[in-house]
Amino acid sequence: MLYSQLKTPSFIIYEDKINKNLIELNQALSVTWGNYIIGYSYKTNSLPWIIDYMNKKGCYAEVVSNVEYELALKYGNSPKNIIFNGPNKGKSQFIEAITKGSIVNVDSWKEMNWLQEIKLTSDIGIGVRVNFDLEKECPSETVMGDEGGRFGFSYEKGDFKKIIDQINALEHIKVNGIHLHNSSKTRSIKIFEVIASKACEIANLFEYELDFINVGGGFFGGLPDRPTFLEYMQSISAILSKRFNNKNTTLIVEPGASLIATPISFLCEVIDVKDTIKKRIVTVNGSRNNIDPFMNKTNYFLDLLVKNEDKNSVKEQVVCGYTCMEHDRLIKLEDKKELEVEDRLLFNYVGSYTMCFSPLFIEYFPIVYVENNNTFTCVREAWGVEEYCQKSIIKEDNIN
Ligand SMILES: *Cc1c(COP(=O)(O)O)cnc(C)c1O
Repeated sequence: MLYSQLKTPSFIIYEDKINKNLIELNQALSVTWGNYIIGYSYKTNSLPWIIDYMNKKGCYAEVVSNVEYELALKYGNSPKNIIFNGPNKGKSQFIEAITKGSIVNVDSWKEMNWLQEIKLTSDIGIGVRVNFDLEKECPSETVMGDEGGRFGFSYEKGDFKKIIDQINALEHIKVNGIHLHNSSKTRSIKIFEVIASKACEIANLFEYELDFINVGGGFFGGLPDRPTFLEYMQSISAILSKRFNNKNTTLIVEPGASLIATPISFLCEVIDVKDTIKKRIVTVNGSRNNIDPFMNKTNYFLDLLVKNEDKNSVKEQVVCGYTCMEHDRLIKLEDKKELEVEDRLLFNYVGSYTMCFSPLFIEYFPIVYVENNNTFTCVREAWGVEEYCQKSIIKEDNIN
């Protein structure tokens, strides 16, 4: 059997599926807006194999910290192909990114102060992140809810206009784009229609054409019964075209989950089965930390790879993880084949906010394979004690 040779626990990346997601996204953007940039969101999954793959496929790197910026450079992105976002930029890297031609989106007043210090000799453009009340127009859909978003400059309060004016008053520097990423629970088309409409409205604050509109990430991708990339891009383009011209204005998208969630599975193995007075407990060598670090998933696209097909089904089996935490329960299986030691479970579509989000808790990072034409190649070995202890310093023996 295909999976029986693999070590467990392990992550498996299906190269064909990433490629298919990328082709679909590129086609959707080509046939709608035409003039576009895809910035792959590093925080969603920044495994070196993945970020290198995205770079080679022509994606820009979307980064939100100094280390992510450095990582993007390490894996061959030119500064011009990096989008630098978020409130966590360091001063020297911020200045380096601007002077070397990265797409930088200002997110704090502190960055405004830094801009005043830069001595420029030629003209450059810079983006600004917009904070606006998306929840008002998409009730119950946003992650921020009634608390409102925390990123960018408030459009409604007037701070957005204020920073635009301040930046445009500087020498050699001009706001040339706006960044409107928002996190939603629904990933609905409506979210992006409202974002696109807001971009049109905000463009009226400028007396010139903007070079880019960045609608951010937060799409679905590669899943049945969900919006397709084409549907999102058709809706966005239809609205943007009322105010912008695709000859002058580039549409930037920053997909993370929609590209990398569906191409990755997690394989683990049953290590023990027992009955308590209450439940059938099936313990596996994976953990909820591996596939649900936010602790909010209740269901999975799961394949049970059982050795003995003749087993009867069991009313309820509670699949628990290896950690010594009571809440480390991955899933309750109802009326499924009775699991036994060495049976394997394959959790599918778990590539986003998992392998790069899990803590180093009790066990360290598992091995990662890439599958291509039924061949599995290791692209990151499991972390052991060596990797865990690197850079640690312990108390030296007292020498009398
Ligand atoms: C998280 C994030 C993304 C990616 O979001 P997904 O839901 O993974 O697509 C894109 N842009 C910014 C600014 C982000 O913070």
